[in-house]
Amino acid sequence: MSQAERSFNFAFHGTLWASAYLALILAPLAVLLVGSVPPGTTFAWDFAVALGFSALSLMGSMFLLTARFQWTTRAFGIDIIYFFHRWVALIAFVLLLGHPVILLGVEPLLIEYLKPNAPWHMLAGAAALLAVILQVATSIWRKYIGLEYDTWRRLHALLAMTAIVLAVAHIVGVNYYIEAPWKHELWFAFAASWIVLMLYLRLVRPWRISRRPYRVADIKAERGDAWTLTLEPVGHAGLRFLPGQFVWLCLWHSALAMREHPFSISSSAEQPQRLSFTIKKLGDFTARLSQVTVGQAACLDGPFGAFSIDRYPGAPGYVFVAGGVGIAPILGMLKTLADRGDERPVWLFYAYKNLDYLTAYDQLQALQSRVKLNLVVILNDAPADWTGERGLLSEGILRRHLPDNYRDLEYFLCGPTVMTAAAERDLERMGISVRHIHTELFEMA
Ligand SMILES: Cc1cc2nc3c(=O)[nH]c(=O)nc-3n(C[C@H](O)[C@H](O)[C@H](O)COP(=O)(O)OP(=O)(O)OC[C@H]3O[C@@H](n4cnc5c(N)ncnc54)[C@H](O)[C@@H]3O)c2cc1C
Repeated sequence: MSQAERSFNFAFHGTLWASAYLALILAPLAVLLVGSVPPGTTFAWDFAVALGFSALSLMGSMFLLTARFQWTTRAFGIDIIYFFHRWVALIAFVLLLGHPVILLGVEPLLIEYLKPNAPWHMLAGAAALLAVILQVATSIWRKYIGLEYDTWRRLHALLAMTAIVLAVAHIVGVNYYIEAPWKHELWFAFAASWIVLMLYLRLVRPWRISRRPYRVADIKAERGDAWTLTLEPVGHAGLRFLPGQFVWLCLWHSALAMREHPFSISSSAEQPQRLSFTIKKLGDFTARLSQVTVGQAACLDGPFGAFSIDRYPGAPGYVFVAGGVGIAPILGMLKTLADRGDERPVWLFYAYKNLDYLTAYDQLQALQSRVKLNLVVILNDAPADWTGERGLLSEGILRRHLPDNYRDLEYFLCGPTVMTAAAERDLERMGISVRHIHTELFEMA
């Protein structure tokens, strides 16, 4: 595929998916207004009912947003999709709360429907609301409650399915606005498609992943409490990916266990048969890397993400800004440029505490003979004899090293949020368009 075709493809997929998403959330609402429609009661009553239906429609769309379809993540980037998911979820939550609150305001006697002897469909509605409240609360306060990420993910998926099933039972039981049998069936079909999506993600996809196994080919300690893990495909051709993309990796557990973790590929996209990951010790999963043995089984789901130089193939050069293990996807892009014999200049601003922590420093030095790499290391805690940059990355440091045509280059930022946010501000102050600045965040929730 030519570079122009690739750029067109990204834009095309983005538009297609945005339109499909809009159609998906509006279709269930449009169905309510077709055919026999009840005469309606008061505006407040019908408004509250509409809020309930809208919330359910948005909730259903979450399954699509989090189904990790490669077409969507390639078009928008997974961080943007998860960010969007978070906001749509909050909007759905507010709409859902509005539904009983307004109804109770209009008719306070409805409180009777929240008692244990209420009709089953009303109890189903109340239980669906409770499931969503739990979902939102455990998502917002996960760290505060001390809920482990993997446990939270499994609970989140379970609550989502529970809420959808109970909410559909509620609207079918209440039977307002969906009296026509075909409307019943259609709402069932919507709900079934959301559940099928969930089952696809949790059962079918893991099964397909398990049919393309990998084995650990190498595990090597790196500076800065990090490891480089290298995998080889077993019985298949490996993974085709864009430099800078990431995968969900499972070690010790099967793909079915929902214990996979996202990691950027730090090896060259030109070598799909040997995939490396540069991983920093952080919590349970990453701390266990010291126990990984050569030959151990592994599995991968991916590739995902839009953080890639291949999305901007016409750039006259690239600038990378890395902090800590944020170097991982950048390493992958640099190695790919090296393997392709790409002669365009690249700049890497790499900030860390001190030289001992500078993950993959040796690999970067080796790359300097294969890529036109201008490596600018910025040490926060530099030794007295250090001749490079010191302190934190700043506009001054960027200006000192970038060429005159710096506004034409593409910028890729990956590292701690504080650092990337400050770098984004510096770059924007220097007159670089936000369209040229691409950031990868290592945190999803
Ligand atoms: C797109 C992306 C690319 C990444 N690439 C790299 C990389 O190349 N190298 C690297 O060292 N780290 C990378 N990370 C971060 C890495 O995924 C986490 O550090 C790791 O999952 C932590 O797991 P843990 O059990 O060791 O720590 P924990 O203490 O359990 O988790 C620490 C934090 O990591 C995040 N996290 C944990 N588990 C998951 C999960 N299953 N899915 C999503 N987020 C999770 C949560 O925000 C959590 O608060 C990346 C993250 C993302 C989102």
